[in-house]
Amino acid sequence: MKTLAELVKSATGTTPLDCYQCGRCSAGCTQNVTEGMDMGPVRIMRLIQMEEAFKDQPETAAEYCDRVLTSDTIWMCASCQTCTQRCPQGIDIAGTMDVMRQTAIQRGKAAKSRRVYDIVSAHKAFINCIRRTGKNDEVALVGEYKMRTGNFLSDMNMAPQMMLKGKMSPFGAIGSALSLLKSGPADNVKHVFEAAEALRKEEEEQ
Ligand code: SF4
Ligand code: SF4
Repeated sequence: MKTLAELVKSATGTTPLDCYQCGRCSAGCTQNVTEGMDMGPVRIMRLIQMEEAFKDQPETAAEYCDRVLTSDTIWMCASCQTCTQRCPQGIDIAGTMDVMRQTAIQRGKAAKSRRVYDIVSAHKAFINCIRRTGKNDEVALVGEYKMRTGNFLSDMNMAPQMMLKGKMSPFGAIGSALSLLKSGPADNVKHVFEAAEALRKEEEEQ
Protein backbone atom coordinates (compact mmCIF):
# COMPACT_ATOMS: atom_id res chain seq x y z
CA MET A 1 0.00 0.00 0.00
CA LYS A 2 1.31 3.45 -0.90
CA THR A 3 2.24 5.88 1.86
CA LEU A 4 0.32 9.14 2.13
CA ALA A 5 3.34 11.06 0.84
CA GLU A 6 3.51 8.80 -2.22
CA LEU A 7 -0.21 9.30 -2.90
CA VAL A 8 0.21 13.09 -2.67
CA LYS A 9 3.23 13.01 -4.97
CA SER A 10 1.44 11.04 -7.67
CA ALA A 11 -1.71 13.21 -7.44
CA THR A 12 -0.17 16.69 -7.13
CA GLY A 13 3.44 16.40 -8.26
CA THR A 14 4.55 17.96 -4.95
CA THR A 15 5.46 16.31 -1.67
CA PRO A 16 4.81 17.05 2.02
CA LEU A 17 8.32 15.67 2.61
CA ASP A 18 9.63 19.09 1.47
CA CYS A 19 7.84 20.82 4.36
CA TYR A 20 10.21 22.46 6.86
CA GLN A 21 7.49 23.35 9.36
CA CYS A 22 7.59 27.13 8.97
CA GLY A 23 3.90 27.28 9.94
CA ARG A 24 2.79 29.78 7.29
CA CYS A 25 0.05 27.43 6.10
CA SER A 26 -1.48 27.13 9.58
CA ALA A 27 -1.11 30.85 10.27
CA GLY A 28 -3.06 31.80 7.15
CA CYS A 29 -5.57 28.94 7.12
CA THR A 30 -9.12 30.23 6.99
CA GLN A 31 -10.48 27.17 8.81
CA ASN A 32 -7.83 26.79 11.51
CA VAL A 33 -10.06 28.43 14.10
CA THR A 34 -11.88 27.50 17.31
CA GLU A 35 -14.65 25.00 16.49
CA GLY A 36 -12.88 24.37 13.17
CA MET A 37 -9.93 22.07 12.57
CA ASP A 38 -8.62 19.78 15.30
CA MET A 39 -5.06 20.51 14.12
CA GLY A 40 -3.55 22.92 11.63
CA PRO A 41 -2.28 21.94 8.16
CA VAL A 42 1.34 22.16 9.37
CA ARG A 43 0.60 19.28 11.75
CA ILE A 44 -0.92 17.22 8.94
CA MET A 45 2.29 17.73 6.95
CA ARG A 46 4.35 16.56 9.92
CA LEU A 47 2.26 13.42 10.46
CA ILE A 48 2.61 12.52 6.77
CA GLN A 49 6.38 12.93 7.14
CA MET A 50 6.35 10.72 10.24
CA GLU A 51 4.46 7.96 8.44
CA GLU A 52 7.10 8.05 5.72
CA ALA A 53 9.96 8.09 8.23
CA PHE A 54 8.60 4.99 9.97
CA LYS A 55 7.54 3.04 6.89
CA ASP A 56 9.93 0.24 7.86
CA GLN A 57 7.93 -0.12 11.08
CA PRO A 58 4.39 -0.75 9.76
CA GLU A 59 2.54 -0.49 13.08
CA THR A 60 4.01 2.88 13.97
CA ALA A 61 3.57 4.14 10.40
CA ALA A 62 -0.09 3.06 10.48
CA GLU A 63 -0.66 5.06 13.68
CA TYR A 64 0.62 8.25 12.06
CA CYS A 65 -1.39 7.52 8.93
CA ASP A 66 -4.59 6.98 10.95
CA ARG A 67 -4.09 10.24 12.83
CA VAL A 68 -4.25 12.06 9.51
CA LEU A 69 -7.11 10.10 7.96
CA THR A 70 -9.31 10.19 11.07
CA SER A 71 -8.76 13.90 11.74
CA ASP A 72 -11.58 16.41 11.42
CA THR A 73 -9.07 18.78 9.80
CA ILE A 74 -9.10 17.19 6.36
CA TRP A 75 -12.89 17.64 6.23
CA MET A 76 -12.92 21.18 7.66
CA CYS A 77 -10.56 22.32 4.88
CA ALA A 78 -12.48 24.57 2.49
CA SER A 79 -10.01 24.13 -0.41
CA CYS A 80 -9.51 27.90 -0.42
CA GLN A 81 -5.87 27.49 -1.61
CA THR A 82 -4.51 30.16 0.78
CA CYS A 83 -1.96 27.73 2.24
CA THR A 84 -0.81 26.56 -1.19
CA GLN A 85 -0.29 30.17 -2.27
CA ARG A 86 1.77 30.91 0.84
CA CYS A 87 3.95 27.81 1.07
CA PRO A 88 7.61 28.77 0.44
CA GLN A 89 8.29 25.18 -0.58
CA GLY A 90 5.62 25.17 -3.28
CA ILE A 91 3.74 22.27 -1.71
CA ASP A 92 0.16 21.77 -2.92
CA ILE A 93 -1.32 21.68 0.59
CA ALA A 94 -4.93 22.10 -0.56
CA GLY A 95 -4.38 19.24 -3.02
CA THR A 96 -2.91 17.20 -0.16
CA MET A 97 -6.10 17.69 1.84
CA ASP A 98 -8.10 16.51 -1.15
CA VAL A 99 -5.99 13.35 -1.44
CA MET A 100 -6.43 12.74 2.30
CA ARG A 101 -10.23 13.00 1.99
CA GLN A 102 -10.32 10.55 -0.92
CA THR A 103 -8.02 8.13 0.89
CA ALA A 104 -10.02 8.36 4.12
CA ILE A 105 -13.18 7.35 2.25
CA GLN A 106 -11.47 4.59 0.26
CA ARG A 107 -9.95 3.07 3.41
CA GLY A 108 -13.06 3.56 5.55
CA LYS A 109 -11.17 5.80 7.98
CA ALA A 110 -13.15 9.04 7.89
CA ALA A 111 -13.72 10.48 11.39
CA LYS A 112 -16.93 9.43 13.10
CA SER A 113 -17.94 12.81 14.58
CA ARG A 114 -21.38 14.11 13.59
CA ARG A 115 -20.03 17.14 11.76
CA VAL A 116 -17.64 15.02 9.69
CA TYR A 117 -20.43 12.52 9.00
CA ASP A 118 -22.54 15.36 7.56
CA ILE A 119 -19.67 16.63 5.40
CA VAL A 120 -18.85 13.14 4.12
CA SER A 121 -22.57 12.65 3.37
CA ALA A 122 -22.60 15.87 1.32
CA HIS A 123 -19.43 14.74 -0.48
CA LYS A 124 -20.94 11.34 -1.38
CA ALA A 125 -24.30 12.87 -2.32
CA PHE A 126 -22.58 15.29 -4.71
CA ILE A 127 -20.53 12.58 -6.44
CA ASN A 128 -23.57 10.28 -6.71
CA CYS A 129 -25.65 13.15 -8.09
CA ILE A 130 -23.10 13.76 -10.86
CA ARG A 131 -22.90 10.02 -11.52
CA ARG A 132 -26.67 9.53 -11.85
CA THR A 133 -27.74 12.76 -13.55
CA GLY A 134 -24.55 13.91 -15.30
CA LYS A 135 -24.91 17.37 -13.74
CA ASN A 136 -25.22 19.18 -10.43
CA ASP A 137 -28.92 18.69 -9.82
CA GLU A 138 -29.61 20.52 -6.55
CA VAL A 139 -32.84 18.70 -5.73
CA ALA A 140 -31.33 15.25 -6.32
CA LEU A 141 -28.26 16.27 -4.33
CA VAL A 142 -30.23 17.62 -1.37
CA GLY A 143 -32.58 14.62 -1.51
CA GLU A 144 -29.74 12.12 -1.15
CA TYR A 145 -28.03 14.28 1.48
CA LYS A 146 -31.18 14.31 3.60
CA MET A 147 -31.66 10.57 3.24
CA ARG A 148 -28.07 9.97 4.35
CA THR A 149 -28.21 12.31 7.33
CA GLY A 150 -31.87 11.87 8.36
CA ASN A 151 -31.98 15.65 8.57
CA PHE A 152 -35.28 15.96 6.66
CA LEU A 153 -36.80 19.15 7.97
CA SER A 154 -33.94 21.66 7.98
CA ASP A 155 -34.09 24.21 5.12
CA MET A 156 -37.51 22.93 3.97
CA ASN A 157 -38.87 26.47 4.28
CA MET A 158 -36.55 27.40 1.38
CA ALA A 159 -38.45 25.26 -1.15
CA PRO A 160 -41.53 27.56 -1.57
CA GLN A 161 -39.29 30.62 -1.91
CA MET A 162 -37.17 28.87 -4.54
CA MET A 163 -40.31 27.90 -6.48
CA LEU A 164 -41.68 31.45 -6.31
CA LYS A 165 -38.38 32.83 -7.67
CA GLY A 166 -38.29 30.25 -10.47
CA LYS A 167 -35.22 28.49 -9.11
CA MET A 168 -37.06 25.20 -8.85
CA SER A 169 -40.18 23.86 -10.55
CA PRO A 170 -42.47 21.26 -8.95
CA PHE A 171 -42.22 19.05 -12.07
CA GLY A 172 -38.45 19.39 -12.16
CA ALA A 173 -38.32 18.48 -8.49
CA ILE A 174 -40.33 15.30 -9.14
CA GLY A 175 -37.99 14.35 -12.02
CA SER A 176 -34.95 15.01 -9.83
CA ALA A 177 -36.41 12.99 -6.98
CA LEU A 178 -37.06 10.07 -9.37
CA SER A 179 -33.41 10.19 -10.43
CA LEU A 180 -32.57 8.96 -6.93
CA LEU A 181 -33.93 5.56 -8.00
CA LYS A 182 -31.41 5.32 -10.84
CA SER A 183 -28.30 3.28 -10.06
CA GLY A 184 -26.09 3.41 -13.18
CA PRO A 185 -24.09 6.43 -14.38
CA ALA A 186 -25.56 8.95 -16.86
CA ASP A 187 -24.33 8.53 -20.45
CA ASN A 188 -22.45 11.86 -20.57
CA VAL A 189 -20.26 11.03 -17.54
CA LYS A 190 -20.06 7.25 -17.82
CA HIS A 191 -16.56 7.31 -19.35
CA VAL A 192 -15.28 9.61 -16.57
CA PHE A 193 -16.43 7.27 -13.81
CA GLU A 194 -15.14 4.20 -15.66
CA ALA A 195 -11.72 5.84 -16.07
CA ALA A 196 -11.66 6.88 -12.38
CA GLU A 197 -12.54 3.34 -11.30
CA ALA A 198 -9.82 1.85 -13.54
CA LEU A 199 -7.30 4.31 -12.07
CA ARG A 200 -8.35 3.46 -8.52
CA LYS A 201 -7.91 -0.29 -9.17
CA GLU A 202 -4.53 0.32 -10.79
CA GLU A 203 -3.36 2.28 -7.74
CA GLU A 204 -4.65 -0.42 -5.37
CA GLU A 205 -2.62 -3.06 -7.19
CA GLN A 206 0.61 -1.04 -6.92
S1 SF4 B 1 3.82 26.63 4.53
FE1 SF4 B 1 4.76 24.87 3.46
S2 SF4 B 1 6.82 24.63 4.35
FE2 SF4 B 1 5.63 25.97 5.72
S3 SF4 B 1 4.75 24.56 7.26
FE3 SF4 B 1 3.22 24.78 5.67
S4 SF4 B 1 3.61 23.10 4.23
FE4 SF4 B 1 5.43 23.32 5.52
S1 SF4 C 1 -6.99 25.08 1.52
FE1 SF4 C 1 -7.72 24.16 3.43
S2 SF4 C 1 -5.89 23.91 4.69
FE2 SF4 C 1 -5.39 25.39 3.08
S3 SF4 C 1 -5.79 27.42 3.95
FE3 SF4 C 1 -7.65 26.79 2.87
S4 SF4 C 1 -8.92 25.77 4.42
FE4 SF4 C 1 -6.80 25.88 5.25
